[in-house]
Amino acid sequence: MNKKRCIIFAIVLLLVAIAVSAYMYGKNSGTIEELTYKKFLDMAQKNQVDIVYLDNGSEITGRLKDGTSFVTQNPRSENFKENMLMLGVDVREGSRNEEVMAVLRSIFVLALLVLFVWMISRGMKKNSLSVKNDPADQLSSLECETLRNVGITFDDVAGSEEAKESVKDIVDFLKNPDRYVKMGARMPRGIIFYGAPGTGKTLLAKAVAGEAGVPYFAFSGSDFVQIYVGVGAARVRHVFKKARETGKCVIFIDEIDALGKKRDGFGSGGNDERSQTLNALLTEMSGFNANEGVVVIAATNRLDILDEALLRPGRFDRQVEIGLPDVNGRFEILKIHGRNKPLSGDIDLKKVSRQTVYFSGAQLENLLNEAAIFAAKRGSKLIENEDIDKAFYTVIAGAEKKDRSAISRKDRQITAYHEAGHALATKLLAPENRVSRVTIIPSTRGAGGFSISLPPDRMYHSRVDMENSIKIAIAGRIAEEIIFGQDNVTTGASNDIEKATRIVMDLIKRFGMGEKTGLLNYDIALRNIEGAHKEIIEEGRKAMEKYYNQVKGLLIENKYFLDKIAKTLLEEETIDEEQLDAIMGGEDIASPAGENSQSPVRDSGKSPVVA
Ligand code: ADP
Repeated sequence: MNKKRCIIFAIVLLLVAIAVSAYMYGKNSGTIEELTYKKFLDMAQKNQVDIVYLDNGSEITGRLKDGTSFVTQNPRSENFKENMLMLGVDVREGSRNEEVMAVLRSIFVLALLVLFVWMISRGMKKNSLSVKNDPADQLSSLECETLRNVGITFDDVAGSEEAKESVKDIVDFLKNPDRYVKMGARMPRGIIFYGAPGTGKTLLAKAVAGEAGVPYFAFSGSDFVQIYVGVGAARVRHVFKKARETGKCVIFIDEIDALGKKRDGFGSGGNDERSQTLNALLTEMSGFNANEGVVVIAATNRLDILDEALLRPGRFDRQVEIGLPDVNGRFEILKIHGRNKPLSGDIDLKKVSRQTVYFSGAQLENLLNEAAIFAAKRGSKLIENEDIDKAFYTVIAGAEKKDRSAISRKDRQITAYHEAGHALATKLLAPENRVSRVTIIPSTRGAGGFSISLPPDRMYHSRVDMENSIKIAIAGRIAEEIIFGQDNVTTGASNDIEKATRIVMDLIKRFGMGEKTGLLNYDIALRNIEGAHKEIIEEGRKAMEKYYNQVKGLLIENKYFLDKIAKTLLEEETIDEEQLDAIMGGEDIASPAGENSQSPVRDSGKSPVVA
């Protein structure tokens, strides 16, 4: 119910309360007979008086048994009340008017109480049902939704060619249903887009609606899961009812996992609401005629956690993966988002796309947006490479920490060696990786420094790739240890250790690459076997020890380069791949402390030692 209706209802309720009160007042004050005191006594004795209202006034009011109100003189005699009681008259203290007022008051209070309870229950419903995104509200503003959506088409979605291809028939079905109906074809009722966040799932759903020219309604799975059992299910039914009334349309449910996670198989398992909501969705999806033109598109980051019931034929029977873009996809996405931005001629989007391995579409969009903000802040008319560079760092590591005064010299040195360790290990072990930036500028996300080592785009990763990733991750800690001693290693390596542990465990448990443990998936093999994981941990620990010794040996042998990279980092704070290559090639690009060497000096005496 909307606000206007609510106010009208409140006013009507009040008017009714007043009318009833007035009626009662009128009834009571309608015919008043004036009786002489004698006649009154007479009638009382004849048992004709029902009530007498007694107060200190000059008159007594009351009601006869036939319902007539009367008024008579007040004798003010001391035993009047007793006499009346003896005659069986109901004597009430206070005037009749007071009693009428009391009735009026209680009616008024009752009306207020009813209004209050009604508003509270409405408020509760509103909280659980509508808040911002009430489907009813959304569905009632169809025109505006349609208009909003018209702008987005497949041209706005770069890359994702396979995904676009797999929804083109749905667009055609929505546009020309007759053609398909004649063939007896059934339109898929539900499609699931799955893939990493920011890969353009929402964008593609909008584009489906935009291409077909039908309304688009977006909800989040969590919109349907409410605190009160049954409310979510009611919302689902409501949305589908409205959608069917609308005719052709696209219903988009983001984060479908919020309501469609695998059920635990032990009955309701404590989340009745989610279960009921999911059942309502399944029933609705099975219920509507496939050719009505209602397409439900759902998105999730993970398909594997969804309840199988959702994926059965007739429900979300088409599943489309939308993965992270490859280098060409990234280039196309950058072109789309660079269209309306004044990019300087120096900016090579191809190069940027090569530097942004593992970036999602949303991150690429964010990169150009941040670059535009940096350029605007500088007061420049064009976005330059330096803006892209800064933005790159911001997107990956959060904004640069501006206040660096509190960082001690020692901390800077530790960070420099730590990052130098990562960079050097990358150059020695995985020269095909790109080290697009090494920096000791702390980020607001808490990292002391950062070194970005991007492996080339590959479909598969070999054992050596994975081992190298582990070694590169632990090289930071090992560099600290070599320079500052075992007792002075810091907490800075916690993320690296986490990463290395994850890879080594994957290597052993998932990919069958452990030396002793062999070709088994240990997540499956060890399910429910308590204590059996000891062997895995032992294998992981041994592997890690081996990598540690190898990396330590390698860094010690190449300590010359470790020092050089760290020194350069301390002076310049950030170095890029070119500078790093120059150092590895033997060029002394850092000006040694105290000296003022301007140009790089080639130190031909040293070359890296690869284990
Ligand atoms: P998801 O739903 O997968 O989390 P979105 O569709 O919300 O991702 O993407 C967020 C934003 O990222 C989009 O609005 C768009 O600006 C950008 N984006 C993502 N993927 C692409 C793409 N393939 N082409 C163009 N822009 C994209």
